[in-house]
Amino acid sequence: MRKTYVIGNWKMNGNKAANKALLDGLKAGVPAAKAGVAIAVCPPFAYLESVIAETAGSVIGVGAQDVSEYDKGAYTGEVSVSMLKDVGVTYAVIGHSERRALFGETDEWVGKKTAAALAGGLVPVVCVGETEAERVGNQTEAVLAKQLDAMLAAVPNAAPGSIVIAYEPVWAIGTGKTATPEMAQETHAFIRNYIKKAGDAFAAETAILYGGSVKASNALGLFAMPDIDGGLVGGASLIVEEFVGVYNGA
Ligand code: PGA
Repeated sequence: MRKTYVIGNWKMNGNKAANKALLDGLKAGVPAAKAGVAIAVCPPFAYLESVIAETAGSVIGVGAQDVSEYDKGAYTGEVSVSMLKDVGVTYAVIGHSERRALFGETDEWVGKKTAAALAGGLVPVVCVGETEAERVGNQTEAVLAKQLDAMLAAVPNAAPGSIVIAYEPVWAIGTGKTATPEMAQETHAFIRNYIKKAGDAFAAETAILYGGSVKASNALGLFAMPDIDGGLVGGASLIVEEFVGVYNGA
């Protein structure tokens, strides 16, 4: 049975005081683990260590929002998998659409980061998704196939369940426009079927999260779909009641 994940992507938000208040609320709201469901938050790099300290002993895991494909050396500004492991990080979001659109990350680059994360023992949460123009132009499946192919090519021996995929239609991120559960399910089913090229077990055990304006009020409907295995949550992960509500929907 594959796992369900509820992962908060804080993006470039927060400060020490706000993070503490948010985590205090989450720890109170999610006091115990739920079988088969993992919960995690992904703060900016600067706060990883303090968030790890504050979540110690709780059910809340911690992820980074990006990671370098390099291990160490003359790569100013980069943070490696081994450094993240060293401070106790579990997950790394890779290839978020904001990094692809604003910072020029390519499919191949995302593949290299995924391979580095996997090799170093982080759980990669690899984001894929189409823009509005691509959806309107009937390019959704072609775009996803290209993104997935580059990722799969970089990790030919990935064990079933070792990679998490987040399907995030770009037009639904931060816009309040969520894909309907049926629309998301159709795309998730396409993704699961597509990744069968890495093996039936790989496809069956890969958690495919939905992301894009997930909140407490729509989580239950989305997560009830057979191929939606939780969510990557942006804006709503900064609000205690919302993120706890999303978790409760999983
Ligand atoms: P959103 O962001 O929930 O604010 O739409 C999701 C994401 O970008 O991961």
